[in-house]
Amino acid sequence: MTDFTERASSPTQAHAYRSGPRITALETVIPHDVMPGLLALRVHTDAGTVGGTPVIGHGETYYIPTAAAAVIHDFMAPRLLGSDARAIESHWRFLYERMTAFGGTGAELRALSAVDLALWDIAGQLAEQPVWRLLGGPVRDAVPVYNSCGGPFYGRSNRKTPSASGWPGHGDPGQPGPLEDNWASMNSPADLAEELVALGYKGMKLWSFDAVYRRQGGHYLSWNDIREGVEPFEKIRERVGDRIEVMLDGHGFFSLAAARRIAEGMQAVRPLWMEDILRPDSIHAMAAFRAQILVPIAVSEMLVMADDYRQVLEARATDYVMIDPTWVGGISATRRIAELAQLYNVPTLMHDCTGPFTLLAGINVAAANSGVAFQETVRAHIATLYPALIDENVTIVDGHIAIPQRSGIGARWLPELFDAGHPGYRRSNL
Ligand SMILES: [Mg+2]
Repeated sequence: MTDFTERASSPTQAHAYRSGPRITALETVIPHDVMPGLLALRVHTDAGTVGGTPVIGHGETYYIPTAAAAVIHDFMAPRLLGSDARAIESHWRFLYERMTAFGGTGAELRALSAVDLALWDIAGQLAEQPVWRLLGGPVRDAVPVYNSCGGPFYGRSNRKTPSASGWPGHGDPGQPGPLEDNWASMNSPADLAEELVALGYKGMKLWSFDAVYRRQGGHYLSWNDIREGVEPFEKIRERVGDRIEVMLDGHGFFSLAAARRIAEGMQAVRPLWMEDILRPDSIHAMAAFRAQILVPIAVSEMLVMADDYRQVLEARATDYVMIDPTWVGGISATRRIAELAQLYNVPTLMHDCTGPFTLLAGINVAAANSGVAFQETVRAHIATLYPALIDENVTIVDGHIAIPQRSGIGARWLPELFDAGHPGYRRSNL
């Protein structure tokens, strides 16, 4: 009997077992001109081709991509290179246990997420099946989505310096124009709602308190400030009634007293949920908030560690669990957290504002877990950014994304992104 986790517990023994194809190279690049916060990963193997296509794993993570790349090449490569590409759980556990020696969160967990996605992609390609089938799916044919009202340039510090990704939650407010949903959600919210309803969307998420926060911080909001953030929702309700669900994302900007006031103001427009009104770094504060208000809440793509999700669920601190698959530890961790939430009868939401494989990872887990209520999408990104990154068009029909039928995770990076001359390109070979 072979215990891969034990046998691989010494990095020098990582090459000792070879029941499957070996990992031969790790390749990363930052597509600065498209999404400067994104790290694109390819994991190469010696598996040759399946159906005429080379077996290459595709993964990604988002935020401080240079740091995540360093973790992959400088910390994880000795374990991964030369070892079994299909030993997903063994690699996950091995790397996770060593990361926890110095905290475990942050760039390390984001790097692990990217690697995990790529290994699931490889497993799917080798099995000639979509990843969701390896996860036990399908539980549905299509995943319900909503539109997060970001614009094409959200995620860059500003239009003039596209090489910087900007601070989290401080994205470009936009300007008038097609797909400028952040601008439209504040300046013509009823028109935007009408457009989204006509396209079949069942939900839209606004960030209408971001401007208030940027102006004066998150500790005191006057009733005028509350009116400013609630007004777009009122205009949507006036124009389209209940034909679309509305949600608010607070990006973690507000302290408890201000958050309570937001909840009081939002109650009349009956949002499906309010998300990250509080910064999610105090589970006691989150539980107190939920106990004190009448609006459902969602927490949080910012948690990342599985035990944080467990504590939030145990404290009854949320109505929905929100997960970003490329921050929590990949498809492996996303599946575990979504299953944990099911034990508490709490539905899961999949985050995306952060890259095409984040979206596809969420769709694959949602295709295999009936507890997933919605996949977040940013139509501006799907229309303008993702086609410059992957070889598959993501299409939203009647408020749903059909589960992918292609082997693996469902798309490939455009090969031209991995130009060895691109600044920051890195490759580690066996
Ligand atoms: Mg959010």
